[in-house]
Amino acid sequence: MHNKTIAELIQGLRNKEFTSRELTQHYLDRIERLDSNYNSFITVTKDSALAQADAADQRLAAGEAPDLCGIPIAHKDIFCTDGVRTSCGSKMLENFVPPYNATVVENYLAQGAVMLGKTNMDEFAMGSSNETSYFGAVKNPWNTDCVPGGSSGGSAACVAAQLAPAATATDTGGSIRQPAALCGLTGLKPTYGRVSRWGMIAFASSLDQAGPMTRTAEDAAIMLNAMASFDSKDSTCIEHDVPDYTAELNNSLDGLTIGVPAEYFGEGLNPAIATAVNAAIETYKKLGATIKEITLPHTDLSVPAYYVIAPAECSANLSRFDGVRYGHRCEDPKDLNDLYCRSRAEGFGDEVKRRILVGAYALSSGYYDAYYSKAQKVRRLIKQDFVDAFDPAKAGVDIILGPTTPDPAFAFGAKSADPVAMYLEDIYTIATNLAGLPAMSLPCGLIESENGELPVGLQLIGNYFDEARLLNVAHQFQQVTDFHQHTPPGIA
Ligand code: GLN
Repeated sequence: MHNKTIAELIQGLRNKEFTSRELTQHYLDRIERLDSNYNSFITVTKDSALAQADAADQRLAAGEAPDLCGIPIAHKDIFCTDGVRTSCGSKMLENFVPPYNATVVENYLAQGAVMLGKTNMDEFAMGSSNETSYFGAVKNPWNTDCVPGGSSGGSAACVAAQLAPAATATDTGGSIRQPAALCGLTGLKPTYGRVSRWGMIAFASSLDQAGPMTRTAEDAAIMLNAMASFDSKDSTCIEHDVPDYTAELNNSLDGLTIGVPAEYFGEGLNPAIATAVNAAIETYKKLGATIKEITLPHTDLSVPAYYVIAPAECSANLSRFDGVRYGHRCEDPKDLNDLYCRSRAEGFGDEVKRRILVGAYALSSGYYDAYYSKAQKVRRLIKQDFVDAFDPAKAGVDIILGPTTPDPAFAFGAKSADPVAMYLEDIYTIATNLAGLPAMSLPCGLIESENGELPVGLQLIGNYFDEARLLNVAHQFQQVTDFHQHTPPGIA
């Protein structure tokens, strides 16, 4: 059962090949048996999963159940779950049990989806390797000596190892697409404001966006159908109709114009990845698309701008963890100052502290204009590059294509001593967060590397609210290639 896609599982439940309880039990057994190899879950919610499965079986028997009714999924441990510990990968929230569900979690519950548990992640979603988790690193199912990517590494590893058919994830600078690329999955970051951020623990509020991690584009469409909604509780959530994202998957690509930015193929890109991405371009030509070279001239400024804006927002967001209201509190504080200082010193890991320090500095009086306000101006230029690329009066492309990451999965420790090397992992993904655009990663090859045979991710970037087209373009690629069907060694 575990090698089926969500689309196939939906059919299986309706054809009574298995019940949701059997399916859920099957995944729970796999998690229990295999997850010690990957460390992809922080919490497994066995009892509630089986209870939800029984309820879903009743709904299915009564007919007219929503698509995801009875389908087991995992949630990144950044989404608040009523009565279930939500750690955000941090000691700060090691014992935090929220009294409410994030809207994303609520939306899946309303469909009758079954929650298997909460997945491991970089602490407060800061990282590209999952090595910053307080709960230990996650291992890549393709090679357990390698990182799965981050910050949604647990969501990626559990889907790649077929411990869950799909998982939720979040992307602030690449955290859905980069782990999807490194684990051979399909990951979608929707337009900023497409999915509610309510109940999703904030890292950088103007960049954070939730999305699905799946094996196919079709599954991503099914997952997004449930995930996307207007939510008045999130003031940045946009009131925009939610189409049926599966409706346009089979559209022909005849007449589609794909832009290929020169800046995404420069220095630093692993040649084997360039070869795989170029082969994907050839596939798209055969599918009827026209390829157009474009330029996104401010690409090289996206990592520096992000590493001012994201830390600035995180320093403000994480000020709420003060040892007073909730989260870790130090023992026997001498006074209020000691309570703040020691609770935060003990509760946060090194990368989170580094970001808070950088962010507080960039926002401080005297430096605000030099750093923060400058970075915001650069952000506007980066956004304008994309607006021009999609503008019919200018470059006029429908989709932008390039690599997701400069390298395949790397060994543990390979980049952890050098924050800048780690930050450059997201060189191709960060600009779309700064611009608020939707983007996805899908598998486009397997390459020989020093760490064995590893998957490569192809990135597709769409115009605002053009997720349906993005999914269509990804789905058509998956109709004529089988990279998304490859599974890590030992996973059948
Ligand atoms: N790797 C980037 C960072 O560390 C992006 C993380 C994310 O998208 N959550 O900030």
